[in-house]
Amino acid sequence: MTTTPLNFTSSQPPAPKGRQASASVAERVASVAHVAQEHLEATDRDASFPRHALRQMRSTGLLGLLVPAEYGGLAGTVGDLIDASMALGRVDMSVGMIFAMHCQQSEAIVRYAASPLREDLLHRLAAGDLYLASVTTEPGKGGHLFRSYAPLHESGDALRIDRVAPIVTGGAEADGFLITMRSPHATADHHVSLVYAHRHQLTVEGSGVWNPMGMRASHSLPLTLTGSIPPHQVIGEHGAFHRIAQSVFGPLAHIGWSAVWLGTAAGALSRVLRLLRDPAGRKRFDLGSELLMTRLSRARQRLDTVHALLRRTESLMAGDTDVSGTSSQLLLNSLKITAAEECYRAVDELVDAVGLRHGYLRDSPTRLEKSLRDLRSAALNYSNDRLHLADGQLCLLDPDVRFA
Ligand SMILES: Cc1cc2nc3c(=O)[nH]c(=O)nc-3n(C[C@H](O)[C@H](O)[C@H](O)COP(=O)(O)OP(=O)(O)OC[C@H]3O[C@@H](n4cnc5c(N)ncnc54)[C@H](O)[C@@H]3O)c2cc1C
Repeated sequence: MTTTPLNFTSSQPPAPKGRQASASVAERVASVAHVAQEHLEATDRDASFPRHALRQMRSTGLLGLLVPAEYGGLAGTVGDLIDASMALGRVDMSVGMIFAMHCQQSEAIVRYAASPLREDLLHRLAAGDLYLASVTTEPGKGGHLFRSYAPLHESGDALRIDRVAPIVTGGAEADGFLITMRSPHATADHHVSLVYAHRHQLTVEGSGVWNPMGMRASHSLPLTLTGSIPPHQVIGEHGAFHRIAQSVFGPLAHIGWSAVWLGTAAGALSRVLRLLRDPAGRKRFDLGSELLMTRLSRARQRLDTVHALLRRTESLMAGDTDVSGTSSQLLLNSLKITAAEECYRAVDELVDAVGLRHGYLRDSPTRLEKSLRDLRSAALNYSNDRLHLADGQLCLLDPDVRFA
């Protein structure tokens, strides 16, 4: 079922018809970042979805970043995904996560959807008409990715969906959903199917409010999804989710999320450094302070560590590498855990470095307060504790400790 793999080696975006024909991926990302910046304060204050930034992602063709050129996509690489996610994360972590999660979903379609669904969805993605939401979390299993309790019912020649989704980023805006369900003839909880549903095939009901500490603009509402889809909207085949998760969802989630978190922490450090270098800042802060220098150094060290791990993981994904092996999975999990911990710590340290006025107050141009709130979600967004448990098991499978 696996078809065209993600192009990991070259990035020559074709000219999308009628849309910034000659713009590079970086220019398209910069225009989205610019729009995100304009609406940052309001979306964070109101915990509202960044509609303007999504509209810009649509019109610049960025929603089709990973879609092959033959479908009108930008044929982007993992490196492009990393660069774009970092750039958006520098401005707003919610916008970065919305984009990175969409790309992870779109790559599952590129790799595993069958004709004619594949062609239909890839054209829509490239045209900016398909923003995808992800439904994996489920009541009773928390974030346990490889299980699903909600059964997918066969009814005549249709598949019936009835799914409670406790948290769906962008669920109120999405044009389509990738949903994990228990396979129709499952004999165990880990027999999980991934299905695609157009919004118009579902009744989408909001069942709560979104009022979190951070990631407020991700607008990750609880939803209930009910409806019917034709059988060809199963991605891969029934029960294939485990394989899709190991080859696409896991790797691209960990890489995309880590890039967004790194961008958020790098943006915070950059704004602090600009404040310190500013003539007014030089008067306010003692740049001869050894404590301040050490804190800046530590923050930078943490970010360089994450960056090195991220780029190492990018090179692991190059070519046709099978990333389902023990050492590759350990590296991918290490990236996620390390990025979540170190990016948060770096920003926390910067709060101490600059103190109350610029570390804790909302109106500081450093935006450390918002960055810290947003980054607090990183360890929870697929729980680090769960990944450590999986890694402990993987360690036992590799007594020679071979590195990827
Ligand atoms: C901003 C944001 C956006 C998100 N968007 C989406 C989305 O669009 N779609 C989606 O499906 N999900 C989404 N999620 C959910 C996310 O992917 C995780 O599934 C979810 O955060 C896990 O929730 P949890 O911590 O309650 O559950 P769990 O993973 O069950 O963890 C609950 C607690 O139990 C602990 N724990 C877990 N396993 C064990 C164990 N075996 N033994 C002991 N303790 C354990 C954990 O450390 C944690 O403290 C999003 C999350 C965030 C923060």
